[in-house]
Amino acid sequence: MAYVIAAPCIADYSCVEICPVNCISPGPHEKEFDGAEQMYINPDVCVNCGACRDVCPVLAIYEAGCLPEKWQHYAQINKEFFSTRSS
Ligand code: SF4
Repeated sequence: MAYVIAAPCIADYSCVEICPVNCISPGPHEKEFDGAEQMYINPDVCVNCGACRDVCPVLAIYEAGCLPEKWQHYAQINKEFFSTRSS
């Protein structure tokens, strides 16, 4: 089960830099970064290491199974960011 970035995200990119499999976007080198509302985790690539959660300054990252009730839908929001890009 992947990690998920939820509502408190402030588009700080500490998580992008620490991810060992480069599955958090958009990073500062990507065109979507300017004006991004939040970062997203690609659930098909995430290896569930938890490193991103530990560096997030606003505690916006949760293991999918541990998302607070009000942010459950963010699992789909993270996934859709990547499916939109690849189409
Ligand atoms: Fe990357 Fe690990 Fe966070 Fe998954 S849990 S997004 S692999 S840093």
